[in-house]
Amino acid sequence: MTNISNNIVAIQQRIAKANKQAQRQDEVQLLAVSKTKPVSLIKQAFAQGLSHFGENYVQESVDKIQQIKLDSDFDRPIYWYFIGPLQSNKTRPVAENFDWVQSVDRLKIAQRLNQQRPENLPILNICLQVNISGEKSKSGTTLSQVMELASQVQDLPRLKLRGIMAIPQKSDDLAIVEQQFSELHNIYQELQQQYSDIDTLSMGMSADLESAIKCGSTMVRVGTDIFGAR
Ligand SMILES: *Cc1c(COP(=O)(O)O)cnc(C)c1O
Repeated sequence: MTNISNNIVAIQQRIAKANKQAQRQDEVQLLAVSKTKPVSLIKQAFAQGLSHFGENYVQESVDKIQQIKLDSDFDRPIYWYFIGPLQSNKTRPVAENFDWVQSVDRLKIAQRLNQQRPENLPILNICLQVNISGEKSKSGTTLSQVMELASQVQDLPRLKLRGIMAIPQKSDDLAIVEQQFSELHNIYQELQQQYSDIDTLSMGMSADLESAIKCGSTMVRVGTDIFGAR
C-alpha cells in the first residue's frame, strides 16, 4: 500500500518554511485534496492529523463521505470542502453532505445551496471562486462581479460567506503567478473591510503554495504532493 506519511510531513514543512519566510504570525491551513483517491488513503491522512478534505466530483465524494461516516476509524470531526465545478442540478447532495463550498461562481448556485441546506445542519460555509486570469476555460466569477456577488450571497441566511478561492493561470514565470495571487489578496482585503466573517483566502496548490503563502493565502489546497499523481 502507498504510504503517504512522508508526503504529509514534507508538505507541512514546506508550509511552515514559507510562512516563516513571509514573516507571518498566522497559521496557514492545509486542505488535503482527495479527489479520485480511495478512502484508505484518506484514512491514512486522517490518522496523521489532517481533518480538512477537498473533493471535486459530486457522486464520488458523496459515496466516500457516507462510507467514512460509518467507519469508526474516523473518530473525531472531519470537514468536507467541495472545490469542483458545480452544476445547478447537482447542488442538493453538496448542500446535504459538505461543510464548505469553495467553488460558488454565480448567484443561482448560492440560492440553491441556501434553499437545500438541511435545517438540522450548521450553516454552510462559502467561498466565491474568482477567475483571476480571465481565461474563458476557467470557472469563477469575474473580478468586476465579485463584490456584487458577495453582497447577494451575504443576504442568504443558510450560507456564511468566508472568503474567496482561485486557481491562477498556469505559468512557469513566478512573477505572473504572484501578480495574480496579489490581486486576489487585494480582493480578500476589500471583502474583509465590508463583511465580518471573511477569514479565508484559499489559494496555492502543490506546485505554487510557497508563492501563495508569500502573497497572503490562509489555506492551501494540496492533492498531488500528498496523495500522488492522479
Ligand atoms: C485538484 C485541485 C487541487 C489540488 O491540486 P494539486 O496540484 O494536485 O495539488 C486544488 N484545488 C482545486 C480547485 C483542485 O481542483
